[in-house]
Amino acid sequence: MSDLLIKNGEIITASQRYTADILAKDGTIVAIGEGLEAPAGAEVYDASGKYVFPGFIDPHTHVYLPFMGTFAKDDYETATVSALCGGTTTLIDFVIPGRDEAPLSAIDTWRAQAEGKACSDYTWHMAVTRFDDEVAAELREIVKMGVASFKVFLAYRGALGIDDRELFYTMKLAKELGVIVTAHCENQDMVAELQAELIAAGKIGPEWHEPSRPVEVEAEGTRHLCTMSEVTGAHCYVVHLSCERALREAVRAKLRGVNVYVETLIQHLLLDKTYAERPDFEGANFVMSPPLREESNFDPLWEGFRHGMISTLGSDHAPFDTEQKKMGKDNFCLIPNGIPSLEDRVRMFYTHGVSTGRVDIHRFVDAASTAAAKIFGLFPKKGTIQLGSDADLVVYDPNHRDKISAETHHMNIDYNPFEGFDVHGRCDLVTVRGNVQVRDGEFVGKKGIGQFLKREPTHF
Ligand SMILES: [Zn+2]
Repeated sequence: MSDLLIKNGEIITASQRYTADILAKDGTIVAIGEGLEAPAGAEVYDASGKYVFPGFIDPHTHVYLPFMGTFAKDDYETATVSALCGGTTTLIDFVIPGRDEAPLSAIDTWRAQAEGKACSDYTWHMAVTRFDDEVAAELREIVKMGVASFKVFLAYRGALGIDDRELFYTMKLAKELGVIVTAHCENQDMVAELQAELIAAGKIGPEWHEPSRPVEVEAEGTRHLCTMSEVTGAHCYVVHLSCERALREAVRAKLRGVNVYVETLIQHLLLDKTYAERPDFEGANFVMSPPLREESNFDPLWEGFRHGMISTLGSDHAPFDTEQKKMGKDNFCLIPNGIPSLEDRVRMFYTHGVSTGRVDIHRFVDAASTAAAKIFGLFPKKGTIQLGSDADLVVYDPNHRDKISAETHHMNIDYNPFEGFDVHGRCDLVTVRGNVQVRDGEFVGKKGIGQFLKREPTHF
């Protein structure tokens, strides 16, 4: 890899904004200043008139995902190429063992999927889908291996969901080890009963997905997690929070001192539930859990970002194509859940957050990169631009205008939920540890260079 000198860009981090040159050597930022000299053989890139952001971090993706009897469409190569084209240089995927599977063997499965294929850096949250002494012993090993966050499902009864006893002991262990517990917060018993009622009444289409998991169910799940966190002392993180009701529960918990962080998805800021009501089963493409909500939730969520009540923006990327969605043709409960958005998360957030003035540009960087790096133990190697940080950089042209389309995206999926949406900006240059992976929005780099990122526990 040659040295890289990015000149004259406007560097924007979560806390600073200034114009300077950045020199990257051997994958690391070694100098920042005005008028830096290019070492012999270095590539010089002129970023005049453009922003230079720290590489973005997606705290919530599902690249390899066996789910509901099928597999998500992307693999580590197609997913990371798409991520990079959209400015995401690190993703945090989930290792999800089946309930009868040993956690360590699931780690092996995911490692085999990622190694040699990933084009961006990556790490994992470790899902706890069963808790007993054997699992606990393996989780201790897994944390030592650098997988320093857990994931639990309070949803999906009979599949990935765990009961309260398991949740309690998972959180006790997390507290002891200093790892944070991320959680899908929906009350699974209420969902199961509401689903059964709707199906029995002949309400089988995708438009009934949202009514089967109403905001009350998510608010209850969120409060439940916070209570468990309060009792066990573990730090927790609500993934894909979708509505004002649930946000209020998290904020109430924060105010009484619970260590709870909140993540929201770009889908929940921009798409309302009418997408899932589209005719001819197109609505199935917009089925995910928690579901798309009433539009009245958008403003409170944007305010949540603006005021820091919501820490991070994720994608929950889980691509299932139109054919796979048909598994639920006669029963919405069988539609594979997921709305692909790994590639468009950052540019959509910029367009609808920064360009509209809803969030300032530093909060944008924080929510899409820095906060996740801090919460999940990657900072300051990732998530900022400073001496010694990895040279994960995004040169962004804010004046570029584009439209989102499945015709031009890089994800391995036959639709794009933001089809036809305008976009402000393009990732003109994207680097991973100094390797130029993207130019002018297209992947030009080396495949398979992505590294697994070991993380230390940080939540004691
Ligand atoms: Zn997810």
